[in-house]
Amino acid sequence: MLERSNELNAFDRDHFFHPSTHMGMHARGETPTRVIGNGEGVYITDTSGRSSLDAFAGLYCVNVGYGRQKIADAIAEQAKNLAYYHAYVGHGTEASIRLSKMIIERAPEGMSRVYFGLSGSDANETNIKLIWYYNNILGRPDKKKIISRWRGYHGSGVMTGSLTGLELFHKAFDLPRAPILHTEAPYYFRRPDRSMDEEQFSQFCADKLEEMILAEGPQTIAAFIGEPILGTGGIVPPPSRYWQKIQAVLKKYDILLVADEVVTGFGRLGTMFGSDHYGIKPDLITIAKGLTSAYAPLSGTIVSDKVWQVLVQGSDQMGAIGHGWTYSAHPICAAAGIANLELIDELDLVRNAGETGAYFRSELAKAIGGHKNVGEVRGDGLMAAVEFVADRDDRKFFDPSQKIGPQVAAALLERGVIGRAMPQGDILGFAPPLCLTRAEADIVVKAAAEAVANVFKFI
Ligand code: PMP
Repeated sequence: MLERSNELNAFDRDHFFHPSTHMGMHARGETPTRVIGNGEGVYITDTSGRSSLDAFAGLYCVNVGYGRQKIADAIAEQAKNLAYYHAYVGHGTEASIRLSKMIIERAPEGMSRVYFGLSGSDANETNIKLIWYYNNILGRPDKKKIISRWRGYHGSGVMTGSLTGLELFHKAFDLPRAPILHTEAPYYFRRPDRSMDEEQFSQFCADKLEEMILAEGPQTIAAFIGEPILGTGGIVPPPSRYWQKIQAVLKKYDILLVADEVVTGFGRLGTMFGSDHYGIKPDLITIAKGLTSAYAPLSGTIVSDKVWQVLVQGSDQMGAIGHGWTYSAHPICAAAGIANLELIDELDLVRNAGETGAYFRSELAKAIGGHKNVGEVRGDGLMAAVEFVADRDDRKFFDPSQKIGPQVAAALLERGVIGRAMPQGDILGFAPPLCLTRAEADIVVKAAAEAVANVFKFI
């Protein structure tokens, strides 16, 4: 076992270019390689035999948990019958057609069609192109700018990395690119004026958005994109009436709304979609992760009837749409998606996410909410975050070189639980599989309390 592990580590360091990894430290062997061998329920086990409770569901994607036979069987069956055929020029497979129908049945009202991709990033690339196409058909060639938010996360490509509002994803890549703009993050804990209540802060965000639209010229602004609850930017739920106020501004200037539901789609907030949870009425929706629980890579852009009615005119004017991926609607991934959505219903996971999520967040707040270095415990559904501060009263940040977030995540891992140090700020995130039980939630809370106590003992 040790020999195999040493061999894998050497191959890894010499040949594997890891995403989101410190390249030099990893290649020099200064950061650990963890080789994951298998998973069951909410646990993963590495090749050295060590198990961890994965309270981040991979990258908030393994929503039904690991080791689901039903999905593995569906994948195997599809691979045997027909591993691949493309979806161009009107082709399809039974799996991709059935899955589109299942998605529209579950989606918020007014949704009409699904365009499949492979990742959240490429689905958002599709969104951008559809938004531009839409305005070209409507004879509004200048209406092309897209407003995103600071701290939003929408992908890692050239345009989607631009939509993302996190420094790490811009720095050294010459991003963001035009025509992408960023407005205020709905980050109540870090609002500019502590005397604002939630609704006043929501109004402040809506006013900032309107100011930007007017400064740029409403005839140039095509769309606004946002996650119902900020995810990678720190797991930040919207302040009260935020979405109502933002949508009023968008409506006034005829601006499309894209709800990026890559994390929230298919149950994470205790409703099938985050849009339903917060009263969002999107024109386009991005889905990925929870669509297959990451058993196979699959994403989608859900197009509303309003947008579809315009897009179809484009083909009548210009012929077939010039946008496609080889693997759009890949049948193996679609088969995984069908089995996954069925499993979510059979196991009643949407309800569990809401109920166990509420329990988990309240236990977490009880256990560590009063700690002198915990500024806030927040979240919604089965998403939670703990934000650490050097001082509770003035919410002072720690010096980033202290790497408090990663230290707590490491201390948590030592206690057998995986959380995620979010990329910007000292924030520890949780987004466990939707099948989490109360007993498993208790294990996470206990480990988190011990990790926090341990790290701050030395600070
Ligand atoms: N949108 C959101 C809200 C996400 O959280 C992510 C990934 N974390 C993406 C888009 C990009 O998805 P992918 O990594 O599959 O490209």
